[in-house]
Amino acid sequence: MNHRIPVVEIRNLTKIYRSGEEEDKTALADVSLDIDAGDIFGVIGLSGAGKSTLVRCINGLEGYDSGSVKVRGREVQDLTPADLRSLRQRTGMIFQHFNLMPSRTVAGNVELPLLEGSVWKHQRAARVAELLELVGLSDLADHYPAELSGGQQQRVAIARALANEPDILLSDEATSALDPNTTKSILQLLRDLHDSLGITVVLITHEMSVIRQICNKIAVIDHGTIVEQGKVFDVFADPQAQLTKSFIATTSNLDKITDLLAQDSPLVALEPGQVILRMSYVSKEVSEALVSYISRAFDLDVNIIFGDIDVVDGSPLGGLVVKIAGTDDHIKGALEYLKSRNIGIEILKS
Ligand code: ADP
Repeated sequence: MNHRIPVVEIRNLTKIYRSGEEEDKTALADVSLDIDAGDIFGVIGLSGAGKSTLVRCINGLEGYDSGSVKVRGREVQDLTPADLRSLRQRTGMIFQHFNLMPSRTVAGNVELPLLEGSVWKHQRAARVAELLELVGLSDLADHYPAELSGGQQQRVAIARALANEPDILLSDEATSALDPNTTKSILQLLRDLHDSLGITVVLITHEMSVIRQICNKIAVIDHGTIVEQGKVFDVFADPQAQLTKSFIATTSNLDKITDLLAQDSPLVALEPGQVILRMSYVSKEVSEALVSYISRAFDLDVNIIFGDIDVVDGSPLGGLVVKIAGTDDHIKGALEYLKSRNIGIEILKS
């Protein structure tokens, strides 16, 4: 494949649902985005924003009214039925509720997509074993879905989605029915599979923490339009749209300081010579222990009230709310030093 053309290229896509009785519903309006080979591309939006419709346009389950959806360089709407089948074979899909067949064993579920092709029976068994190994379920091959936990069922669904060696994996709210720890392990598995198989992942979610954990690119969708898109690190560091900001706020405890200040909590009570400030890490360069440095270099007492720093797409991102005490000159010097290190500074109380 020519790596310079995006795996998925969407231009000015508009999709309207028309039903005789109800009003027409514009599910997607003028959506444009590029998904490159090797991306883990997150699409986030509230319920009803148009995320599933977008995915269904990518794998040809849904037609569209105007604009273009090209997958691997070919317009999806113009594909012949045979080409559409091949598109779907090369595009694995996983869902919120796993969609396993209850009457088939784990191995039987993973084998299903192989039955459509021309794979010999003994080859099928070997392929199923390989896939179960890949998702860490070799021991459960003969169990039935009802005997498995949610996380295990999603692993079966992932193995099934990979059966025909797709180069794109579409994940539609795949962790939304799982508890936080299981979510983490499934996201880790997706990342490992991405790394080892080189598969491109398109991941739909309403949870910003999911995006933060594994995606490299993000599109934020609201009422059928994309309000913001870019690299995950850049969007987290400097979100533009109000909706993006509110999604990011759900992943961080730093906004709690606003409540504490409003409530005049003892945690934020100040003595003369103290200030409270929010430091934001918004640069890929930052990784030193800045707090201990300013404390030593400027002879300050630095007390961390909140901390929330995470590694996003390989770089630290987040912030600290700190109370610092010292002479005016020393505090001023420390703030200037922090700014020179590309730390965002906001004095919340002085
Ligand atoms: P999301 O996945 O973000 O929750 P959807 O893509 O499912 O959003 O839906 C986008 C909008 O299109 C919603 O208003 C939804 O009610 C509407 N919609 C989705 N599917 C259909 C359909 N088959 N017929 C009519 N309206 C639909």
